[in-house]
Amino acid sequence: MRMYDIIRKKRDGGELSPEEIRFFTEGVTKGEIPDYQTAALLMAIYFRGMTRDETAELTFAVRDSGERLDFSAVKGVRADKHSTGGVGDKTSLIVAPIVASLGVKVAKVSGRGLGHTGGTVDKLESIPGFRTDLPEDEFLAAVNRVGAAIIGQTHEIAPADKKLYQLRDVTATVDSLPLIVSSIMGKKLAADDDVIVLDVKTGSGAFMKTPADSRLLAETMVEIGKKAGKKIMALITDMNRPLGFAVGNALEVIESIETLKGRGPEDLTELCLILAGAMLYLAGLGSIEECGALAEKSIRDGSALKVFREMIRAQGGDPAVIDDYGLFGTAPFTAEVKAPRGGYIFSVDTEGIGKASLLLGAGRNTAEEEIDPVAGILLRKKTGDPVVKGDVLAELRTSDKKRLKAAKEALLAATVISKEAPPPEPLVFDTIV
Ligand code: URA
Repeated sequence: MRMYDIIRKKRDGGELSPEEIRFFTEGVTKGEIPDYQTAALLMAIYFRGMTRDETAELTFAVRDSGERLDFSAVKGVRADKHSTGGVGDKTSLIVAPIVASLGVKVAKVSGRGLGHTGGTVDKLESIPGFRTDLPEDEFLAAVNRVGAAIIGQTHEIAPADKKLYQLRDVTATVDSLPLIVSSIMGKKLAADDDVIVLDVKTGSGAFMKTPADSRLLAETMVEIGKKAGKKIMALITDMNRPLGFAVGNALEVIESIETLKGRGPEDLTELCLILAGAMLYLAGLGSIEECGALAEKSIRDGSALKVFREMIRAQGGDPAVIDDYGLFGTAPFTAEVKAPRGGYIFSVDTEGIGKASLLLGAGRNTAEEEIDPVAGILLRKKTGDPVVKGDVLAELRTSDKKRLKAAKEALLAATVISKEAPPPEPLVFDTIV
């Protein structure tokens, strides 16, 4: 078999056989295929797409390219949620303790920030001492003891995806449905969960910009998850505005703690209860309504917050952050972004907000870059809010004063103020089961 023939077949719109797909992923994993041929095939897939069978095969090949995790030491049902990537999306930090407080185990392997989107691992690492690199036995013991633990991805999980993602990132082939599906589900299926709830983002801050594209992505992922024997469902949720008010690592952890204390932003709280409810439902704890009510109660009675405190302790972090946000440290430089005119916030380019946060130091431009844990944005106005000229739209935080100017410009450029209020948008567009 030759890569040349595989590239040509896909270039001409053909359907790759399982053997050709495996030849490709195995060659990528072993480093036997030069980057130029891998990149050429990625671009051919980008333009020609893949059938459902090809996409499933590529997903299973990515899953099989590395280690398959074994969570059999965890007692009880194991549930996971996964977001396709958003801005201000800190739901995992809230949903994992809610679900664990109700007896369903969460052994979560999370990612770092990607482009303009944040990552759970970076957020958790803003908690002083918090370790996301627990060895497997310690991780599984923490899940059994506390109910939930979250670690970062190791190189051994789906190494083909690591290589493919690096090349997609620099060849403008990230936003391709079969490539996103195989990347996300290849990694998810390498973990050993019984239940998966997918939070498929749609809108200006998501990889998929329209509900129709997001629905196709969700349906494909659910179909492949079922083929792999998982109890799985997907929610298509809004990313035309950041979730909550905080964007940036420590700021988002603080907002998550506030949410676990029952004082969180409405949109964030609602989405977390829906996601947790869906996980509990698939885990067999009752109807969707009953599970939503259980999730709500776990915030109201403090049991979810208690699990989060234990999670922090079990992973080497300082649980005192829950009572004293000053322990996260404070950004030495701040600036306010003010409304240049009055009206309503008609829309925000959520990707632009994510990029402004990146400019402040909350994300990385290259894999090697260090994150500034206290950098980020606190939004003071969101889509639909009325504003008068001079109102504070957002507060910027950073450890590097030079970063403020570009971030301020990016934030202003991302915000559209108009005379009329925009029509309301749902938080959840659709559910795929
Ligand atoms: N997240 C991933 O892990 N991969 C993608 O391709 C997109 C989002």
